[in-house]
Amino acid sequence: MSSWKDQQVLIVGGGIGGLAAALALARKGIASQVIEQASELKEIGAGIQLGPNVFRMFEVLNLIEPINALAVFPNNLIMMDSITGEEVTRIPLGTAFRRKFQHPYALIHRADLHKVLLDACVTSNLIHLDASQKVVKVDETKDGITARTESGKDYRGAALIGADGLWSTIRQIVVGDGKPKPAGHITYRAVLPAAEIPEQYRWRDMAFWAGEKVHFVLYPLRTGNLFNLVAVFHSDRYEEGWDSFGDPAELHERFAKTCEPVRLLLNKIESWRMWVLCDRPPIKEWSRGRITLLGDAAHPMLQYLAQGACMSVEDAVCLADKVVAAGGDYAAAFRAYQQARYLRTGRVQIMARIYGEFYHASGVAKELRNMMLSSRTPEGAMAGMEWLYGEQKELTSAA
Ligand SMILES: Cc1cc2nc3c(=O)[nH]c(=O)nc-3n(C[C@H](O)[C@H](O)[C@H](O)COP(=O)(O)OP(=O)(O)OC[C@H]3O[C@@H](n4cnc5c(N)ncnc54)[C@H](O)[C@@H]3O)c2cc1C
Repeated sequence: MSSWKDQQVLIVGGGIGGLAAALALARKGIASQVIEQASELKEIGAGIQLGPNVFRMFEVLNLIEPINALAVFPNNLIMMDSITGEEVTRIPLGTAFRRKFQHPYALIHRADLHKVLLDACVTSNLIHLDASQKVVKVDETKDGITARTESGKDYRGAALIGADGLWSTIRQIVVGDGKPKPAGHITYRAVLPAAEIPEQYRWRDMAFWAGEKVHFVLYPLRTGNLFNLVAVFHSDRYEEGWDSFGDPAELHERFAKTCEPVRLLLNKIESWRMWVLCDRPPIKEWSRGRITLLGDAAHPMLQYLAQGACMSVEDAVCLADKVVAAGGDYAAAFRAYQQARYLRTGRVQIMARIYGEFYHASGVAKELRNMMLSSRTPEGAMAGMEWLYGEQKELTSAA
C-alpha cells in the first residue's frame, strides 16, 4: 500500500546540510531526491570543528562509528594572545567535558565528514542523488512541487528543502532578501602535512591566537597526520564566492604585528585559499507552503562559534521529526520546524558575530577580554557553553 512517505521530497544542495536532511528523512522512511549543481558530490575546503551538540545528532543518524573513526579528539581548547603569544585560557575537553555534555568535541576534515554522510546516503534505497543539476526554478501546486534545472530537467516531489548554502537560489524564492552581508573579514585556509609543522606546535589541541583585528587557528586532522591552519583578518576587499586563491602579501601585512609562532606558521604555507565571510541577520520565517530552507540557506552565520555545519545537521533531525509529527502535511511541518529552530539558530548567528568582535579585540576591549577569560575556571567556561552544547528539548524528542 502506498503511503505519503513514498512521495519523494526534493532537496536542493548536496552539502553537509542536504545530505543530513536526506538521511534524517530516510530514517523516518521518507524518500528523497538530492539535486546538486556540482559535477560531483564532494566537499572541498579544510578542517571543521564538531561540538558535542552535533554528536547527539550523529547518534540519531547512526553515524557515530564512522565519524569517530575519522575524527581527532583534541585534549584542550586553547586561546593565546596573538601579540604576546601568552596563553589566555584553556578548556580541557577530557572526562569532565564529556561527562557534562555526554559527547566529545572533535576535529575532522570536511571531505571526511561529507563522505561519511554520502556513504550513508548511497546505502539507503530511499535516497536518490543527482549531480550536475542546478535548480533555477521552483513551482508549487496544491499537491506538490516541480523543480526545474538549468539543463531543462524537471523533478517532481511532495515538498522541497533548499539546502543550497549561503548563496541560496531557493532563499530568493522563499524570502527574497537579496545577497548575504559581507562581514569585512577574510579567511585564508590551508592544510599541511604534520611534517611541515615545527614539532613544538604539533599538539593535539584546538588552539588559536586572538587579536588585534586578526586571529590564527591551528589544529590537527586525520589522526594528526595533517594540520589545519586558518588565518582571519579584517579587510574591505570583497569578492563573491568561496574558493579563490588568496594574496599572501596582504595576509603577511595584516599579521605583521603578531608573535613569532604565528608568523613562523604563516610562512610555512605556499598556497592559501581564501573565503570572504558573509552572514545575514536572523529571520523568523524561512518556509513558504511546501518549500523550506535548511543550514546556511536559512541562517548563514560567521564561523566564530564553529557551528554552521553543526546547525545544519540539527536542522535536518528536527525537520524530519516535524514532518512525521504532521503526518506528511508539509506546510504545517515546515512551520513547526522553523518555529522550533529560529531562536536557537538566531542566537548562534548573533553570538558568532559577538565572538568575532571578541577574538579581534584591541585596546581596552582586548585587555578586558584577556582578564575575563583568564580568570574563568574550566567549570565556569563549560557552564557558559551549556546553551550551545547542552541537550535541546526540541531535538531530544526527535531522538
Ligand atoms: C572559514 C569557515 C570555517 C567554518 N568552520 C566551521 C566549523 O568549524 N564547524 C561548523 O559546524 N561549521 C563551520 N563552518 C560553516 C559550514 O562550513 C557551513 O555552515 C556548512 O558547510 C553549511 O552547509 P550547507 O549544506 O547548509 O551549505 P553548503 O555546504 O554551502 O552546501 C550547499 C550545496 O548546495 C549546492 N547548490 C547551491 N545552489 C544550488 C542550486 N541552485 N542547485 C543545486 N545545488 C546547489 C552547492 O553546490 C553545495 O554543494 C565554517 C565556514 C567557513 C566559511
